[in-house]
Amino acid sequence: MTPGNEPTFRQSVDLMFNRAVALMDLRPGLEEKIRVCNATYTVRFGVRLRGHIQTFTGYRSVHSEHMEPVKGGIRYAPSVNQDEVEALAALMTYKCALVEAPFGGSKGGLCIDPREYDEHELELITRRFAYELAKRDLINPAQNVPAPDMGTSEREMAWIADQYARMNTTDINARACVTGKPLNAGGISGRVEATGRGVQYALREFFRHPEDVKAAGLSGTLDGKRVIVQGLGNVGYHAAKFLEEEDGAKIVGIIERDGALYNQAGLDVEAVRNWMVKHGGVASYPDASHTAEGAAVLEAECDILIPAALEGVINLKNAHEIKAPLIIEAANGPITAGADDILRERGTVIIPDMYANAGGVTVSYFEWVKNLSHIRFGRMQRRQEEARHELIVRELERLSEHLGDKWSMTPNFKSKYLRGADELELVRSGLDDTMRIAYQSMREIWHGREDVSDLRTAAYIASIEKVAASYRAKGL
Ligand code: GLU
Repeated sequence: MTPGNEPTFRQSVDLMFNRAVALMDLRPGLEEKIRVCNATYTVRFGVRLRGHIQTFTGYRSVHSEHMEPVKGGIRYAPSVNQDEVEALAALMTYKCALVEAPFGGSKGGLCIDPREYDEHELELITRRFAYELAKRDLINPAQNVPAPDMGTSEREMAWIADQYARMNTTDINARACVTGKPLNAGGISGRVEATGRGVQYALREFFRHPEDVKAAGLSGTLDGKRVIVQGLGNVGYHAAKFLEEEDGAKIVGIIERDGALYNQAGLDVEAVRNWMVKHGGVASYPDASHTAEGAAVLEAECDILIPAALEGVINLKNAHEIKAPLIIEAANGPITAGADDILRERGTVIIPDMYANAGGVTVSYFEWVKNLSHIRFGRMQRRQEEARHELIVRELERLSEHLGDKWSMTPNFKSKYLRGADELELVRSGLDDTMRIAYQSMREIWHGREDVSDLRTAAYIASIEKVAASYRAKGL
């Protein structure tokens, strides 16, 4: 493959899929059934804005219905197209299977530059798009449950949920028609930062395995590791912030739309984000050097590279120049199939997208369950748990009175131990557990099979096995 003729995003995903199924023993025909996208709907609709009717084009692609509902975000970007939406829907199928979120894969997109419209206009457009999808059951708590993606957030999800509820006034589960909603509209604590949190948990789990760290030519822990992140949007910002504040990583580079910041001593992620929000970009940020040619910083020296923006940013043109020994794909599809071949050959360890950014859909799963059960997590148990802990603490206090000061409890033990878990703690615990288990399922294949030399192929094998098992159970 040459830089001029790289495959499309969907072809790239299919090539990676093919690499994995070539090593599997699937029944004839099943491979094709899993790979293909079941259906892609294109909707075109008009909205009267600023005195005239504007026509918008949107998509919702359903890749696999081996489990329902199908799940996946809705993206707002001018570059949205059918090929991209289908690639992203396929990745959702594999992602959900890998982390055992009981969904099929789907994805949606609207061709729009959201920055060109004000809030009221965006609400009109979103509600109309939601109407078009809902009337075709492409938004439905039992069949198809969207979520935020690039260019959309809690705000759009609240509009979608409300639009669905208006159209389905007697559906008691209406709130479960979409996830990533604000807390006051049926959302769940910890969903906004979930994808970034998942990236952090993925890296923590990776660094728990010295053998894997060594495979990337690294050693030790996350503490002090030099990180470059591309994209300080919701995912990149949270991942970088948590790694900096909680794991001691040094964020040496941040790549944004208007260039890149670099500082060997480490950047203050929160300060850069605040600067960006205020000034609309990073260009004039004072405490770092700025390069207008942002993509060049992807090639800078670092320990960990986190592409958290667009697909295809590491491709045949720059793959040879990438120096990071470890790449974690916080975005979907940031490395093309051709670049993946080059990096694999060179021994770069890649923690693949379908695992690395699965934190979002994992917490979406918890939100969907919360909506269907109509109760906040922890509401029934929390105080009962505290009361039982109180019993133990009182008993310990009674004993330590007899034993004297030397045996008294450490300060804070009491308050820390007494407190029952709230929803956010439960969400984090569920996410952490999910990320650890999924990593281990990939790792077993990576180290356990002679013919598998990378985590991506391992991830595909682990997930395709699960999808195939579902089809088998259905008698296909
Ligand atoms: N858009 C996110 C993703 O690509 C989240 C999907 C979801 O929560 O359903 O995984």
